[in-house]
Amino acid sequence: MSDLPRKEGTGDAPSSCFHCEMPEGPSVRKFHHLVSPFVGQQVVRTGGSSQKLNPASFESLWLQDTQVHGKKLFLRFDPDEQIVSPGNNPLPEPLQKSEQKEEAGHQQKVSEQSSLSPGGADALPSRDDGPQHLGEDTPAGGAERWLQVRFGLFGSVWVNEFSRAKKANKRGDWRDPIPRLVLHFGGGGFLAFYNCQMSWSSSPVVSPTSDILSEEFHRGQALEALGRDQPVCYTLLDQRYFSGLGNIIKNEVLYRAGIHPLSPGSRLDPPRLEALVDHVLAFSAAWLQGKFQGTQQHTQVYQKQQCPAGHQVVKEALGPPGGLQRLTWWCPQCQPRLSPDEPGAQAPSSQGLALKGP
Ligand SMILES: [Zn+2]
Repeated sequence: MSDLPRKEGTGDAPSSCFHCEMPEGPSVRKFHHLVSPFVGQQVVRTGGSSQKLNPASFESLWLQDTQVHGKKLFLRFDPDEQIVSPGNNPLPEPLQKSEQKEEAGHQQKVSEQSSLSPGGADALPSRDDGPQHLGEDTPAGGAERWLQVRFGLFGSVWVNEFSRAKKANKRGDWRDPIPRLVLHFGGGGFLAFYNCQMSWSSSPVVSPTSDILSEEFHRGQALEALGRDQPVCYTLLDQRYFSGLGNIIKNEVLYRAGIHPLSPGSRLDPPRLEALVDHVLAFSAAWLQGKFQGTQQHTQVYQKQQCPAGHQVVKEALGPPGGLQRLTWWCPQCQPRLSPDEPGAQAPSSQGLALKGP
């Protein structure tokens, strides 16, 4: 009895807030961890502003499973109590104890979004992980029993507590954020979902081989994608190969690998691409671990004026033509552009040769 998951995060258990971080893979893993204790419980009351999903339709459904894939959180709801599959909780038990520390440290955290200019590229809602399901939004009556949750820039999950306004808006009003969906459970606790897009799907369809935090992450597939003739900073955000990788991880791993964001992957030799993938995996794992230990992952160039070596960092919105432009920080000295003469550089194009003249 004592290890029933419903005991955690219900009743008087401390609530948790991760409102202050951009939800990349590690944050969504943490949300998953917060939701997991509610698996096996029945929804008894609902609320929320979602127009797309009718929050009332969740009433009396049972939360039977939760999974995380890349930046997406999946919750399985069934009309019956029977447990269809065991809860998917990849996190080791001891980590569950550290939530209170993170809670305590929350007030000191600096919002990663607040210093961005309102019109900046990063102020756009994240839409870099594929098309949205636009199917019929049925409650969990038919085959579509998985609720897919994709978090926006300020997306978050709160447990047994609502998010409160941290400052007044432009008109001077202190308005608390409005949750999209609130689920009160039979155990007495509740979950509140903020700034996210939700839709029903038949299964969590994301392959773990592209999930940077999965043990099944396919390194060869990622290296092949990175080696293409396009800037590596575009490929890193491609959720087909680096599911869970967001803008913070992108900036940090490129700095650590000493690679200019606009370097075409095809001009980087295999050891440099290998090192870049190593940094992706190491940084993401360290970030996730820090989340459970209540420590904040330190950034070296993301939203910085200077790199750790004291050089001036530059910032620019970069993205594929016609695609989402993301604010990118890099150090021109630690991450120099590849020169055309550098060994390993591709042969210049015929146009380039023609320009050289006789
Ligand atoms: Zn530098």
